[in-house]
Amino acid sequence: MTAERRLPLILLVSEEHADLLADEFGRYRRDYDVQAVRSVAEAKSTLDAVRRAGGQVPLIVAESVLPDAHVLEAFALWRAAVPTARRMVVAHVTRFMDDAPGLRAGLAKGKYDAYLLMPRGVRDEEFHTAVTELLSDWGSTVADPEVDTVRIVTPTTDALSLAIRDFVDRMGMPARTYHPDSEVGRAVLSRVAGEVRFPVVEAMNRGPVCAGSVHDVAISIYGTPADIDVDTVVDLAIVGGGPAGLAAAVYAASEGLNTVVLEAEAIGGQAGTSSMIRNYLGFPRGISGMRLAQRARNQAIRFGARFFTGWPVTGLDPGTGGAPHVVRTDGGSVLARAVVVASGVSYRKLRVDPLERLVGMGVFYGAAMTAAREMEGLDVYVVGGGNSAGQAAVHLSRFAASVTILVRRPGLTETMSRYLVDEIAYNPRITVEPCSEVVDGGGDGRLEWLTVRSTVTGEEARRPAGGLFLLLGAEPLCEWLPPAVARDDRGFVLTGRDVPRESWADGLPPGNLATTVPGVFAAGDIRAGSMKRVAAASGEGASVVPLVHAWLEPGA
Ligand SMILES: Cc1cc2nc3c(=O)[nH]c(=O)nc-3n(C[C@H](O)[C@H](O)[C@H](O)COP(=O)(O)OP(=O)(O)OC[C@H]3O[C@@H](n4cnc5c(N)ncnc54)[C@H](O)[C@@H]3O)c2cc1C
Repeated sequence: MTAERRLPLILLVSEEHADLLADEFGRYRRDYDVQAVRSVAEAKSTLDAVRRAGGQVPLIVAESVLPDAHVLEAFALWRAAVPTARRMVVAHVTRFMDDAPGLRAGLAKGKYDAYLLMPRGVRDEEFHTAVTELLSDWGSTVADPEVDTVRIVTPTTDALSLAIRDFVDRMGMPARTYHPDSEVGRAVLSRVAGEVRFPVVEAMNRGPVCAGSVHDVAISIYGTPADIDVDTVVDLAIVGGGPAGLAAAVYAASEGLNTVVLEAEAIGGQAGTSSMIRNYLGFPRGISGMRLAQRARNQAIRFGARFFTGWPVTGLDPGTGGAPHVVRTDGGSVLARAVVVASGVSYRKLRVDPLERLVGMGVFYGAAMTAAREMEGLDVYVVGGGNSAGQAAVHLSRFAASVTILVRRPGLTETMSRYLVDEIAYNPRITVEPCSEVVDGGGDGRLEWLTVRSTVTGEEARRPAGGLFLLLGAEPLCEWLPPAVARDDRGFVLTGRDVPRESWADGLPPGNLATTVPGVFAAGDIRAGSMKRVAAASGEGASVVPLVHAWLEPGA
C-alpha cells in the first residue's frame, strides 16, 4: 500500500481476546487498517508510529481489563497521542457485569465513548451499529473527507474560506479546500464564467461561484425565498432552524402543512455548535448537535418542508382580517397563514479564540447542569456575575473539587440576588475572584489550563482548570419582531398566561405558545420562561403544531 492511500487505523487492544476481536472487525478491513495488539505499551507504540507517519486513527477498542494498565489510564495515555480517535471499551461476557460499575462513571465523564458487551456470535448488529456510529461521527469531523460535495478553491486559508467551510460542514456537506494550482482547483476555475475572485466555491450540481460572503454560497446552494411563487401563501413559516424550528418543521410537514423554514445561518442553532449532546433522549452514546440538526432537516425535507438557509428574517408584518402574515427577508418575502418564531438566543461570547475552540470539551456556554457530572474532582471556573452564574457555581460545587467565580466587577452584590451571594459565601468549595478576567487557555483535546488576569494590577496567572462555564448572559434574537408581539423586559417573547392581562383578548390569555398576535406562535429558547435545553425546544416545536392546526382550521 502506498503512503498516499494508507487506510485509517482501527486499533484493537486485548490480551485475552485479541483474536476474537480481530475476527469480529474483519468486516471493516476493506476501508480500515484493522490491527490487534495485546498490551497498552504495544498500543502506544503503534499509535506513535501511525502519528509519525501522518496516518489517521478513527477508533480504539480496548478490552475492559488490560495487562499493563487500567483501561481508563490507557485511554488517557492514548488520547495524548491521538486526541480525535473515538474510544470504545468492550467487556467479555464473564466480566461485563463486574466491570460495569467501575467503568460507567468514566463513560459519564466522557473519558471514553461507549461501553459494550463483546459479541458472542456472528451478526451482532447492535454492536456494529455502535461501531459504525462512532466511525461515522469521526468521519464527519475529519479535515479532508474522501468524497467531497463542496470544493473550495483558494490560494490562502483566510477568514472567509474558513467561515464558508464551517457553514457547509454544519449543513452536513463534505467539503475540501484546494489550491488553485491543484488538478481539482484548475478544473473548478476552468468552469468560472468571467473574472476569478477567491474563494471560488463549487457545490455538486451547481456551477462555481466567486463567493464574497457565506451568504453567496448559501444562495447558490439553497436558493432564495423569492423562488416561491409570489402569489403562494404557505400554511406555516418557521423563523429559525434550531431544535425548536426543526421539530416544528418535521411535525407540521408530516401533518400535511405547506411549511417553509427561514434560517439566518446554518441549521442547528446553538445545538448545532455543541460538539456532543449527551442528554438528548434516545442517543445513549450522545450525538453531535450538528448531526442531530442534519438528520432533523433531512426528516423535515422528506415530509415536504422547504428550507431557505442563509436568510435572516428582517421583519414581520402581521396579517389582519384574514390576510396572511408577511415574513420579510432581503431575498424576498414569504406569505404565511401562521408563523412560528423559533429564533432562539445568542450567548454573549468570551472572545478568547483558543477557548472558543474548546467549546464542548471542558468549555461550556450556559450548560452547567448538563456538564456538571463530568467535573467530579476537578477545579472549575465560572465566568459571570448574574444569577445564572451563581446557580451554576452552586450546582457545580456538588461535583467539582473547587469552583472559582471570576467577575470583572469588584463583587457580586450588584448583579446577583442576595440569597445566592449568601449561599456562595457559606459554600467552602466556592471562591469569588473579583476584578479578574480570563485571557487565555488551552489543553490537549480538552481544557486543561487557563490564564486569569487581574483587571486592577494586570498581573496574569496560569492555572490548571478542568472546566470553564461561561454565563455571560443570553440575548434573544428578535429585534426583527414588530411591537405587536409582546416581549418581557429582556426581550424574550411572551406567550400564553405570561402575556400581561391588559393584552388578553375578551378576558382570556392567548393559548399556550401563542403570542399577542393571532396566528403567530413562539417555541424554544426565544420564549420567555423556556427551559433552554434541546429536548425542551424540540418538544415546544412539536407542541406548537396542533395550535397552528387549530388556528388554520378553527373548529375542525
Ligand atoms: C455550546 C452549547 C452547548 C449546548 N449543549 C446542550 C446540551 O448538551 N444539552 C441541551 O439540552 N442543551 C444544550 N444547549 C442548549 C440548546 O442548544 C438550546 O436550548 C437549543 O438549541 C434551543 O433551541 P432553539 O431552536 O429554541 O434555538 P436556537 O438553537 O438558538 O436556534 C435558533 C435559530 O434561529 C436562527 N435565527 C435567529 N434569528 C433569526 C432570524 N432573524 N431569521 C432567521 N433565523 C434566525 C439562528 O441562526 C438559529 O439557528 C447548548 C447550547 C450551547 C450554545
